Amino acid sequence: MSTINSDPECLFCRIVAGEIPAERLYEDDEIIAFRDVNPQAPFHCLVIPRSHIATLNDVTQDQAELVGRLLVVAARIAAEHGHAQDGYRVAMNANRHGGQSVYHIHLHVLAGRQMGWPPG
Ligand code: AMP
Repeated sequence: MSTINSDPECLFCRIVAGEIPAERLYEDDEIIAFRDVNPQAPFHCLVIPRSHIATLNDVTQDQAELVGRLLVVAARIAAEHGHAQDGYRVAMNANRHGGQSVYHIHLHVLAGRQMGWPPG
């Protein structure tokens, strides 16, 4: 198991620690998933590592398996909520132009409506 780093100033680290409530949909020793507080689709959850990693730019080679597991968990959650067949969108925003607002990496899993392309 990889080392769990935590930043006391980080909103998602505080959710991991249970200091801020969230509706958890999945958790294991490395990853948690919870519903987005401001959903952009009928189903919208966030899949995050427990360990603090600020942006995709900060992912190191030894975290590659962990980041890959975020995708596996995203697909599992989408399937568990009945969205595997119709489909869903998985996205990770990075830094300002990517539209990142919380600096702890997270996959958005959006489902339950037709997604557009290109994204805004
Ligand atoms: P991003 O803009 O890609 O960094 O995504 C951050 C996401 O976190 C946004 O979709 C927010 O709605 C969501 N968010 C912010 N605060 C909370 C919270 N306390 N619980 C759940 N989701 C949150």
